[in-house]
Amino acid sequence: MSDPFIVDEFQEAILDTVRRYVDEVVRPVAADLDRNTDPEDSFSWDIVEKADAAGIRTMTLSEEWGGIGADSLTTGMVIEELARGDLGVSVVMAQTLKIAQILQAALTPDQQQRYIPGFRDDPRGTLAIGITEPETASNYFIKGDWSFTSKAEKTDGGWIVNGMKHFISNGNRASIYLLFVQTEKGKPLHEGSTCFILKRDHPGFTIGRVHDKMGERLANNAELIFTDCFIPDEDVIGEAGNGFQVLVDFFPASNAYAAATVIGNAQTAYDLSVEWAKTRIQGGKPLIEHDGIRSQLAEMHMMIDVARTYIRKATWMADNRGTVAWDPAMGALPKVYASQAAWKIATWASEIHGGSGYMKDIGLEKLMRDAAAFLHSDGVNRTLLLKAADSLFED
Ligand SMILES: Cc1cc2nc3c(=O)[nH]c(=O)nc-3n(C[C@H](O)[C@H](O)[C@H](O)COP(=O)(O)OP(=O)(O)OC[C@H]3O[C@@H](n4cnc5c(N)ncnc54)[C@H](O)[C@@H]3O)c2cc1C
Repeated sequence: MSDPFIVDEFQEAILDTVRRYVDEVVRPVAADLDRNTDPEDSFSWDIVEKADAAGIRTMTLSEEWGGIGADSLTTGMVIEELARGDLGVSVVMAQTLKIAQILQAALTPDQQQRYIPGFRDDPRGTLAIGITEPETASNYFIKGDWSFTSKAEKTDGGWIVNGMKHFISNGNRASIYLLFVQTEKGKPLHEGSTCFILKRDHPGFTIGRVHDKMGERLANNAELIFTDCFIPDEDVIGEAGNGFQVLVDFFPASNAYAAATVIGNAQTAYDLSVEWAKTRIQGGKPLIEHDGIRSQLAEMHMMIDVARTYIRKATWMADNRGTVAWDPAMGALPKVYASQAAWKIATWASEIHGGSGYMKDIGLEKLMRDAAAFLHSDGVNRTLLLKAADSLFED
């Protein structure tokens, strides 16, 4: 089905490249990688290196920095296409593509010179963002007097960071990290936390546990541990004490990217279901000729279409913030809707496949495990609804 938001040959060419990459590189190995019991074995550098060779890994960098300057609308489409092949691969790339956008927008010229070329030239260069910690998790999405437990104390020329983050996507794989820690004791996050940038081999920074996840297994998540870790003043992004403004100013499309990931997964579940319904005969005719199944498939199509339109709106608004006012609810709601829809679609797809839906070889149980990830990540949905309510009912 044609997408009215694909408006030029440039987007078409990018999406063709991504589809080819997904078909040739990701799909043939995804199920086998998913089955590995050690989470680290489910991650593949080969997949990342081939994304680099196809120009996908760096596509949000501007031409000046060696990329193609993909905007947020197109990046959302790319992330969805990647997730049609595998949700974990889409997450590895989505984190990298969105943080690369931040590196260009939020870093000073000196910071850009020190960080972007290394990322661009490393075929394994992936990026991560560390916010969540065991005690301060959903709290950072909603208004309140909370602080991070991980903290940085001022010293000559920089900061000494102590603490830990967990659940971090690409945590054990990234070469560059954005890190949010408390720099002003007792102040709420939006007044007392700071965003730092650092590299993987930074002294005082180590990787802890790699989480063993139910799904999204081709992406790794890990703990980040900081022990008397000195970070110089030159590596503060934005202003000290104003770290959350970095998220507000430079992260508008993040929620829509998460939504795009889970909708790519839903599209695959839907496509498999249509194919199955056309070929599986019960009650004397193909399933698709039974009204219950036909209408269920139409409802699945509708949910994907609505979610996708919402994603396109959010990414378009993020690209056009100079001309249209940004709606903060768009930074929370697309992922809520898309993940609820995708979860429903994955479970319905399994049901349409009957007993086969429960068997591993068909692939639906993987799609269900993968779809569940986004009920939890990028903010638990109930928390994101509270965040949206805070902006909708501010008065
Ligand atoms: C696969 C995955 C990838 C992730 N990647 C990253 C990453 O790259 N970087 C990163 O920083 N984080 C990441 N996270 C963390 C994620 O964004 C969530 O914020 C975090 O998982 C939620 O915190 P929690 O698990 O401690 O839940 P809790 O905060 O303990 O919430 C538990 C439940 O209580 C509800 N709740 C919490 N507070 C309230 C309240 N005030 N009112 C009503 N209900 C409330 C929540 O909605 C939830 O249902 C990831 C998580 C997962 C699962």
